[in-house]
Amino acid sequence: MMTEVFSPVMWQRAERDSVFGEGGFDALVVVGHQFELPDFPELKQLVSHAIGIDSGIARQPTLLLAPGLAGGRLVLAPTGALDDDYLDVRQFAEAAQAGMARALAAGAKHPLLLVERSDDSRYSEALSAALLGAGQQLYQPFDVKRQPMTIGVLGLENVARANALEIGRTLARDLCGGDPEQMAPPAFADYCAEHFAGSAVSVEVISDRAIIERDYPLLSGVARASYGVARHEPRVVRLVYRSSGAIHKSWLLAGKGVTFDTGGADLKIGGAMAGMSRDKGGAAAVAGLMAALAQLQPKGVEVIAELGLVRNSIGREAIVPDEIITGHSGKRVRIGNTDAEGRLVLADVLSHLRELAPAMANQPTLMSLATLTGHVVRSYGPYSAVVENSVARARGDGGQLQAISEQLAEPFELSRLRREDFAQVAARTPSEDLLSSNNGASVNISRGHQFPMAFLIGAAGLDQHQLGSDLPLPYLHLDIAGSAVEKRDPLYGMPTAVPVATLLALLLDY
Ligand SMILES: [Zn+2]
Repeated sequence: MMTEVFSPVMWQRAERDSVFGEGGFDALVVVGHQFELPDFPELKQLVSHAIGIDSGIARQPTLLLAPGLAGGRLVLAPTGALDDDYLDVRQFAEAAQAGMARALAAGAKHPLLLVERSDDSRYSEALSAALLGAGQQLYQPFDVKRQPMTIGVLGLENVARANALEIGRTLARDLCGGDPEQMAPPAFADYCAEHFAGSAVSVEVISDRAIIERDYPLLSGVARASYGVARHEPRVVRLVYRSSGAIHKSWLLAGKGVTFDTGGADLKIGGAMAGMSRDKGGAAAVAGLMAALAQLQPKGVEVIAELGLVRNSIGREAIVPDEIITGHSGKRVRIGNTDAEGRLVLADVLSHLRELAPAMANQPTLMSLATLTGHVVRSYGPYSAVVENSVARARGDGGQLQAISEQLAEPFELSRLRREDFAQVAARTPSEDLLSSNNGASVNISRGHQFPMAFLIGAAGLDQHQLGSDLPLPYLHLDIAGSAVEKRDPLYGMPTAVPVATLLALLLDY
């Protein structure tokens, strides 16, 4: 697929002269706190005069007439004060987003971005964060006619990296944002197949019903009511990136792609179903990371990803609570609530990835990405959660991911898996090995976003890979239910592509 057509936003390194009209930019957007701008005394003078007559300039995005500057338009996008102890680099991301919105509202089509530096270590990735915010504002859904835009960025060093990331984020947002028909499982899989065709990432789509039922029995349970409507039938997408030469980091990624979640027989009622086309944000983010890798083709890494794409429909074939299904790992799972379907999809996908682990170049890290629980939203609001298994915790993997996420304006909370989480999903009768959930909504259950990982560990057979086993496997579970769309508005919030930037930085050691 042609990237120019695919991604509406391309970053371009701009030089100092472009501030004064070189390069044809039609607005200058300055993101900063004090607008000290030591390299641009003319600019600083203009800004201090403006602040002299309008102190509101330091609080909200403002457009000034600026003859002699790019396009004659200067947009000041204030971060607000940066010294408070509880602030983070989102000050820059949000300011850039608001500033870019103001420039577009003024009619700019080719803006130039200047980000004021800060010595505070919290803001060392201020430019990256500003690009994430600006890119978020400039993103246009795939089903509107996209206007390609090139944005000049002063001081942008790694243009290829920034563009690869935005291409990945664009794919992630497209896949997450598509409506229940546009991005039903076969359509989602086709979109991936088209995107990765001929790229450095190989793509395989499993669509045969007999194979899916044999190899992904828990996923098939979720999909059961969707069979009979060809365009809703499940798919498994496998994406592989392996660089040439020595490999020093190996990842195995599982993405939850529930393209629409009715809740199933435990139907979502009282208006809770609207927005559930966004229940595929995990699979979308995994695909987005793979798209960034396809562009960058980094050395030294291998990543195998599986996306479980299912529509959780309701109908006479729907699974019901109390059913017992034997998963790919051989574990017998009693269904607790059919609306806890994401963990069923992930369990089979993770079980397949587990089997690949011994053949990887290194001890691989497993991750699951999912908009999994209402509980994480209740617990942490707009923050993502990362939960570690014992092996990942011993290595400090969750803390490392959290630290990077904090620098890149995609902040994660680190949650701890506890013994009670395993008790929550333990067998209640001799007929099952695990209970998928109890029968309430996760939002009303204590530890509702932690204990699903206990289920995933058991149901995927990862309990055989703890510390002290022959092959300990570090595993991180990422719940992005509160961060996959903007403003925690599952109905109309724009998809965010969280945590593609964090994962790319973690994989590539920044
Ligand atoms: Zn559900």
